[in-house]
Amino acid sequence: MLSGMRPSGALHLGHFHGVLKNWLKFQHEYDCFFCVADWQALGRNFQAPKNIAQHIQNLVIDWLSVGIDPASAKIFLQSRVPEHAELHLLLSTITPLTWLERMPAFKEAQEANESLSLSDISSPLLKTTDILIYQAGLVTVSDEHEVHVELAREIARRFNHLYGRESDFEKKSEQAIGKMNKKVSKLYQNLRRSFQEQGNQEALLMGRALLEDQQVLTMGDRDRLTGYLEGNGRQLLAEPQTLVTKAARITGLDGRVMSRNYNNIISLRETSDSVEQKIRTMPTDSRRVRLTDPGDPLRCPVWPLHENFSDQKTCDWVTEGCTTAGIGCLECKKPLIDNINAQLEPIRVRAKEYEEHPGLVKDIIYQGSDDARDVARETLDRVRDAMGMVY
Ligand code: SF4
Repeated sequence: MLSGMRPSGALHLGHFHGVLKNWLKFQHEYDCFFCVADWQALGRNFQAPKNIAQHIQNLVIDWLSVGIDPASAKIFLQSRVPEHAELHLLLSTITPLTWLERMPAFKEAQEANESLSLSDISSPLLKTTDILIYQAGLVTVSDEHEVHVELAREIARRFNHLYGRESDFEKKSEQAIGKMNKKVSKLYQNLRRSFQEQGNQEALLMGRALLEDQQVLTMGDRDRLTGYLEGNGRQLLAEPQTLVTKAARITGLDGRVMSRNYNNIISLRETSDSVEQKIRTMPTDSRRVRLTDPGDPLRCPVWPLHENFSDQKTCDWVTEGCTTAGIGCLECKKPLIDNINAQLEPIRVRAKEYEEHPGLVKDIIYQGSDDARDVARETLDRVRDAMGMVY
């Protein structure tokens, strides 16, 4: 499984609830690669690339502080795995320009009339490379980035079609189907269709489930099916599937979604005083001019934060107190401040330890990158070999 972030500033509660909480779970369920995509960050920060180094350190400290464990997941730096650059170049030769021109980010940049650089159009291909080089079966993304995984899938399919050996698989499959009894032959054909339509990963799962069904298959069928699955499993580039994570959208201090672009964030390392100050000065339901004016939580930006960070009892207390003017806004905000600070405190403590030991953070990045590089090299060797570029 692969996921990643651009090092471009402090992570905030929106990142924690929208992305990192899923990573914490996945790191124990999958073989995870978490990429610090510094080359992606360079595209937008080419005028001040020196800032990226600090952002990298901070990003990894944030990851580690929330509980991403380098013993369970590989934390790596994109630019320390130069194989990404070579694969990017090789894939660029087989990627039609029209596939990149239809990417939403490129279209937006065009419409905004920004002065475009080559990286604006090639950046989705670099993202594709990040995925394919680790033969990632699953890529976790929020819904707006699903399109990048779809592109990776199309490019992998095209590469496999151009340089792979699917035709051999097909031939073998035809022969195998001919030797099977009718019932199994039908299952086999479904499996083959699944390989073609849904991609490698899902079909493999389906095939393995079929193999486990002892009653359906004879020994001979099982051997033939195993051979077929292994053959397809050896596709040159794995076609990734998307794991769209339920993006918990956290509301920012102004009622809009929490985002650095809106300057409405509570960062993961925000001090308790700063959290208090930010929440206390948040706007509330404008109809609550006096303490005796009743309000409506649904018209108040503080309410969604309560929904995310307060328990049911507190939420009930807020609803009752707000609509009957039984509580004031500062009183209402107090448990919210306490809850957010309680959640951030262990993160702050762990972050401080890593801040005091920058060498340790560097070692984690270097070790993760070395491990990632081993996998990347293997893929690149297969790609070079398939393309006949072994001189
Ligand atoms: Fe918002 Fe709470 Fe004030 Fe109601 S009492 S307006 S929910 S801050």
